[in-house]
Amino acid sequence: MNLIGLSRQELQAELEKLGEKPFRTKQLWHWIYFQGKKDFSEMTTLGKPLRQKLEVNGYTLDRPEIIREQNALDRTRKWLFKFTDGQSVETVYIPEEDRGAVCLSTQVGCPNGCVFCHTGSQKLTRNLTAGEIVAQFMAARDSYGEWPTPSQETRYLSNIVVMGMGEPLLNYDNVKKALQIIMDGEGIALSKRRITLSTCGIVPMIPRVAEDLGVKLAISLHAPRNDIRDQIMPINRKYPLEELIAACKKFQEIGGTRQYITMEYVMLDGINDSDADARELMRLVKGLAVKFNLIPFNEWKGCPLKCSPAKRIKQFSALLESNNYAAPVRQSRGQEIMAACGQLKSTQSNA
Ligand code: SAH
Ligand code: SF4
Repeated sequence: MNLIGLSRQELQAELEKLGEKPFRTKQLWHWIYFQGKKDFSEMTTLGKPLRQKLEVNGYTLDRPEIIREQNALDRTRKWLFKFTDGQSVETVYIPEEDRGAVCLSTQVGCPNGCVFCHTGSQKLTRNLTAGEIVAQFMAARDSYGEWPTPSQETRYLSNIVVMGMGEPLLNYDNVKKALQIIMDGEGIALSKRRITLSTCGIVPMIPRVAEDLGVKLAISLHAPRNDIRDQIMPINRKYPLEELIAACKKFQEIGGTRQYITMEYVMLDGINDSDADARELMRLVKGLAVKFNLIPFNEWKGCPLKCSPAKRIKQFSALLESNNYAAPVRQSRGQEIMAACGQLKSTQSNA
């Protein structure tokens, strides 16, 4: 049994099965999530009998198997991780100057089938467990040797974006549990302000992110009107824009408007990129505290859509910014290793 991904209560229950006292939970938690040890024999404060009991009873702290690791010229690193049942996902580290974000996957494939998204062309195979989500981050920390957990300010793997494969709010219980483990102050201790969860708009779950987690929210908006969004994001037929915007308002009522919501907007040539679209977009988000993040569409084989010309993207951004919205254009990272937005998948082929 892998202990990664158990809540404190569950870990305590396992220790009780071994006849151990509750105070051991805190010690073991520290070794797993603060020290990052994979081997019980190194957990010196536990005492030899307990270390042995953990080993002979078959407990592990295994990370997923690394099937492939690729490094891009801009130092973006991508792993293909395989879990015990043979399913695999991709995880990406996107470095900035002296810090960076790990992009976590939450599902194998995705059921939503957004037409611009490579992951979405893959169907849903299964949800990841909380342990598999936490273990992606721990394996990334292993890869950079970032143990024991450095202070919040000095760490290289400083942020998390839940923007990898899958829709996090369709696997909410596991995502919630994983993030709670990652935010726990006595372990990995990543601040909620350094975590951003991105959703295509699973409306009923959006307020819960503010209630349960307090992490930042990003919405894959991508269109100013239902008729456009219906065409590129099938989920919009279930949860149309007016409901999505209402859910965002609720999110900010709970979390406060200082919590800006990031509206992600993929720039698609001739589909959503006119000045009229930009104006409509601003009308749509009126009353919400938002910033935009314009994403140049990453083209992929088999998808007929095209990226807007660079000049068009610049003008679109300028129009939003002249109305006092932040609207930076997201730099595409790790493109030659297929690590950019919407390019992740779970096979070894590079097609
Ligand atoms: N399912 C979640 C999180 C994963 S997608 C969501 O949809 O928000 C992460 C981001 O990449 C989303 O904003 C998504 O719309 C965007 N994206 C998907 N395919 C893309 C592509 N081909 N080019 C650029 N961005 C893409
Ligand atoms: Fe799924 Fe997000 Fe891709 Fe849409 S954009 S198919 S919701 S991963």
